[in-house]
Amino acid sequence: MASPVTTESLTLRRFDFSDTSQVAHLLTRSSGRLNALAKGIKRSKRAAIFDLFSHGRLTFLPRPSGQLQLVTEYDAIATFPAIRASLPRLHAALYFLELAIEIVPEGEPNAAAFDTLLSGLRGLEAEAPASAPALVLSFELEFLSLGGFAPRAGSCLSCGKDVGRAPEPFRFSPGEGGFLCRDCFAARGPKPALAAPVARAALKILESLSRRETRAGERMTAPKLPDGAIPPLRSLMDAHVRATIEKDLKTARFLPRR
Ligand SMILES: [Zn+2]
Repeated sequence: MASPVTTESLTLRRFDFSDTSQVAHLLTRSSGRLNALAKGIKRSKRAAIFDLFSHGRLTFLPRPSGQLQLVTEYDAIATFPAIRASLPRLHAALYFLELAIEIVPEGEPNAAAFDTLLSGLRGLEAEAPASAPALVLSFELEFLSLGGFAPRAGSCLSCGKDVGRAPEPFRFSPGEGGFLCRDCFAARGPKPALAAPVARAALKILESLSRRETRAGERMTAPKLPDGAIPPLRSLMDAHVRATIEKDLKTARFLPRR
């Protein structure tokens, strides 16, 4: 039998498997995203081991990728009580988890994704609930950047002019993951119905958020954004995430938006 693996985990999803067992969908630091089976937990003191979001130290007996990994030990490190106590934080955290499920491939080690998700949850736990919308934007841009999925905000998709020099307003093209300047948008044929104009200032904010890198082990901080900046960026990121993963995230509609 394979040797047990000990690693840190974050609980993305969990459900009852039988009267005495639970299955948890976890993002681990050493072994990527996996499904783990914990037997007999409802009868033991470890009843709450797989609380949603919880950061823990997990030991499991590895089985082939795609199968349920067998949990032998679990100790909670952090359970994020402040996230659970505030709806803006809670909705933001649920969105973080769903984004991780959709973006991180199963069974492939991805320590950077683990560290970024943990930093984001720590940020939500520590920041005021009013900062949640800004923290969500910062988290998703940093998280998407890990896999090369962040929108390209530095230059026009078509002429390549720097966003500082290309004529505004810009238009977002979700299928292409970037922006067209005023002239290139005008030069294109049939226009998509919902391409709202985007100001240069908004693109500069997107670009600077995409370049943020929270160091492993640190908590993410909410960026200070100008008044009124968040709602248009939220709409833009909704369209971008939908185009990137090719479906709507169930948790996106509950996100705090201003
Ligand atoms: Zn252009």
